[in-house]
Amino acid sequence: MSKSGEATLVKNAGSCYMLSELPQWNLFPAVLRGKIRLKDSEATNPIAVGDRVRFVAETEPDMEHPASITEILPRKNYVIRKSTNLSHQAHIIAANIDKAYIIVTLEFPAIKLPFLDRILVTCEMYGIPVVIVLNKMDLLRDVCTDQIRDFHRIYGIAGYEILEVSAKTGEGIEGLRNECKGKVCLLSGESGVGKSSIIKAMDPEADPKIGDISLAHLQGKHTTSLYEMYNLECGGFLIDTPGLRGFGLVDAQKEEIALYFPEMLKVSEDCRFSPCTHTHEPGCAVKEAVGNGSISPERYASYLGMLDEDKKYR
Ligand code: GDP
Ligand code: ZN
Repeated sequence: MSKSGEATLVKNAGSCYMLSELPQWNLFPAVLRGKIRLKDSEATNPIAVGDRVRFVAETEPDMEHPASITEILPRKNYVIRKSTNLSHQAHIIAANIDKAYIIVTLEFPAIKLPFLDRILVTCEMYGIPVVIVLNKMDLLRDVCTDQIRDFHRIYGIAGYEILEVSAKTGEGIEGLRNECKGKVCLLSGESGVGKSSIIKAMDPEADPKIGDISLAHLQGKHTTSLYEMYNLECGGFLIDTPGLRGFGLVDAQKEEIALYFPEMLKVSEDCRFSPCTHTHEPGCAVKEAVGNGSISPERYASYLGMLDEDKKYR
């Protein structure tokens, strides 16, 4: 019986792709038709986990008779990983992400705010809604009271949702499960923050196995299945990604960076000059907001750091 329709790529199985008609989880194999293969020459992979595709199959697809992918549908967003060398190659990690959960903790290991800000900027650039998940609350609550308060101040003003959880005690995990339901979610976090523990707490059957992997490995022959989608017990679809570094910052133009700090974008309309770098210009509404506490000095410092870094690479 022939079959056709739209499906989501959930796994790259090396010789073929596994598709599923989400929200059902009915995996079947498919291959790319030759002409699509070369279309996206910038990326090392023409198609990524999360891609929506159109397919046709003459019979019920199986490994001997996989379906054919005839079209990759436009992506609503995607994250790429750029090579750190000069080859300018990029690997698409995942596409069509409904929400990214950035796992952090405050101590054990100590958080680096500028690093988190970089990830948040990256998510803004990619157009991916993001939630910050503050893990290890069981450890932090009593010993880091001030730090927790500051964290909420800084990221609350910036407009980010913060979920407090503990993979150890299960606090907040049910909330996370409900959040993920029916969504394609990306989970990211620096090593040691408890990413695998959270996945396990959300779904004991899940098998988080992906560590930090360099792009060089990604380009290897046998490692094409590094990113895959998991069907969580709660009905969410999870794409696990390597440490935060894996995201890589796409090249933002200097003038662009402030657009990806939502709290700066909001007030920058009132800057006297446009464009305004929010550094030395008179009548800068962003600097004024930093002065009166409606933009946090920590986030502003991250912004200046990013401008500086941008200069270095020019
Ligand atoms: P990953 O590298 O981000 O995947 O982190 P792991 O899940 O391997 O966790 C790193 C360490 O933190 C392990 O020793 C975990 O037992 C511990 N850990 C993870 N989550 C929690 C938590 O909520 N509370 C406490 N006390 N420890 C945690
Ligand atoms: Zn300004």
